[in-house]
Parts: sequence; C-alpha cells; structure tokens
Amino acid sequence: MTPLKWILVGLLAVAAVAFAVFQVTRPLIVQRAFERAVAENVGVDRSLALPDGLHVYMCGTGSPMADADRAGPCMGILAGERVFMVDIGSGGARKLGRMGFPMDRLERVFLTHLHSDHMDGLGELMLQAWVAGARTEPLPISGPPGVEEVVNGLNAAYRIDSGYRIAHHGPEVVPPSGYGGTGEPIILPIGPTPAQVVLEDGDLTISVFPVPHAPVEPAYGYRIDYKDRSVSISGDLIYSPALVAASANVDVLFHEALQPEMTNLMRDAALANGRPGVAKILEDILDYHATPGEAARAASEAGAGKLIYYHTIPPIPTPALNPMFLGDAADVFAGPITVSRDGLLVSLPAGSDEVEMSMAIR
Ligand SMILES: [Zn+2]
Ligand SMILES: [Zn+2]
Repeated sequence: MTPLKWILVGLLAVAAVAFAVFQVTRPLIVQRAFERAVAENVGVDRSLALPDGLHVYMCGTGSPMADADRAGPCMGILAGERVFMVDIGSGGARKLGRMGFPMDRLERVFLTHLHSDHMDGLGELMLQAWVAGARTEPLPISGPPGVEEVVNGLNAAYRIDSGYRIAHHGPEVVPPSGYGGTGEPIILPIGPTPAQVVLEDGDLTISVFPVPHAPVEPAYGYRIDYKDRSVSISGDLIYSPALVAASANVDVLFHEALQPEMTNLMRDAALANGRPGVAKILEDILDYHATPGEAARAASEAGAGKLIYYHTIPPIPTPALNPMFLGDAADVFAGPITVSRDGLLVSLPAGSDEVEMSMAIR
C-alpha cells in the first residue's frame, strides 16, 4: 500500500475506535446529564433568579383545538413575590412544572370565563398546588358567577384521590384542610362597566373588566399592575372598547385571536369530508372571537407597548405560518408583535421599559 493508503486506513481505525468508545460511554454521559438536570431543577425555585418585576409564564397558548405546541389557555403570574394564575386549560399545569413556576406559593386563580378550555386543567392544578405548597386552606378560585359550581364539582371528583394521597404521604405533607378549591364569584354591574379592582396590596393591583363573548356571559379580562409595569389579558372576546379602556398604556397586551381565512379552510375541508357538524362549529366560532387585525386595533388604540397573541385559532403548526395568521396586523399596530407558544416566559423588570422573552421549558 502507498503511504497515503496507510494514513487513510489508520484514520478509519481511529474513527472506528472512537465510535465504539462513544457507543459504550453514551449511556453514562446521558445519565450524568440527567443527574445534573435533576440536581438543578427538583426542589429548586428557579423564580428566585428572576429580577423583581412582573413575569408571565405562558403555560398554555392554544384553544380547544388539538395543537402539539399549545396547551389550553393558561398563564402563570409572578408579581414581585406574589404568585397567581389566569385561566388553566388542559395540560397547562404540567407546562408550569417544566417552566419552574413557583406552584408552592400560588395564592389565587382568576378565570376569565367558564368555557371548558379555560378551566379544564383546574382539577389537576388544585391538586398540584395542594401538594406542592402543603396548603392548609383550599385554593381560592375567582371567576364569573358559576365558578362555585365548577370548583365544587372538581372537589367532589378528586375527593377519592385526595384520600389516597393523605393515607400514603401523611397529613403533614398533604394537610387535609388544604385540599381542593373555593369558588369565589366576581360580580360586576350589568351593562358597560369600567375596570374594577379585585386585589390591591402595596405595589400590586389586579383589575377585572367585562368583555363581549356572547353567549358566554359574563366573560372577563384582567389587568395586572405591579410597581411601574403592567399587562392586560383579554380572555375570549370580539373587539372590545372595554378592553381598550382597561388596557390603556399597558406594557404588554395579551390578546386572543381567530384567523378567519384559515378557519374557513378548515370548515370547507370538514364539509368536503362529510362532517357538517364540525363545519357548523367552525362557522359559529367566527362570531365570538377577534381577528388578528382586530386584536392589533385594540393594542393600537390602548397604546400598548407590545402585543402578544395567545389562544390562537386555528393551531399554527410552524412559525412559518405566522405571516398567514397575522395578515395585516403589523400595519394596524406599530409596536412589536409575538405569536406565542407554550413555554414562553415574558419578563418585565421593575424600573425599566424592557420586555424580555425567553423559552423557559426544560
Ligand atoms: Zn377559549
Ligand atoms: Zn371562550
């Protein structure tokens, strides 16, 4: 063989040995990475590393439609050291765990309305909050009238399971008095109503305002102010002057949206495939959601600093479809626009104008 061939054979032999060593050691390397990840995450309050400010954990950015990247509507709120939630759709509670949300300090849940997609993760959340925080009192759940019936039903549904937990782990770990939730209705005056304060304590103010989502009545949106930072959360609605008024000059407006052309494509496909009932539902939902353009109009009129879409209909399987979803929204709202996905952490440090975004799912 020529010297060049000897070199090639030698290189191949070295590569083969290296590959064999890698194959043998790979399980060990992966195991070490797992051990490191466990040590860095289990029992660690990752929220302590965040700056003082207002932080929104986007634990669910989808709608009732199946979406691989989006659980049902769910937002965790960290305001200074105070911890809340707005809505808790299916799958949201598990996303919160992956995001390092301080579930053990959860004070209260605010529901925007009683459509199932906004509260079908509530039973799981109440259980997780009870266990994580060794709660000694049930979790308060605020929402439109009827919230008591929802929470009482979930308390009954999980009662048997709670008995198993107490028997297995002991009352010190899962105090029986802290099991479940307490539904606390928020009752607003009928008719056009300005935002009402539902919680005011030091640097923190949470306000509620009615939004149009007929036949779901009442339906609410929420505004949260902490120190000099603010966010507003639309819930489900059509374009709403009440939301615009309540969201004046917020740093970030979180707004739902339904894209009509994309939804009509789904309706046409359902009809073509012999599913008239599905087609009717896809037709019906057009009349009680805002379009991306209408959401942009609301953000513009409110003077919002940034617009983040959530509860996006239909599912958007790839960010490459965001332009199709958004249409002319960027012509209507001049500020920055984001189409959110689960795991997004939106941070607004106090004493600054910054809105920082990062993916917090690990
Ligand atoms: Zn919804
Ligand atoms: Zn709804």
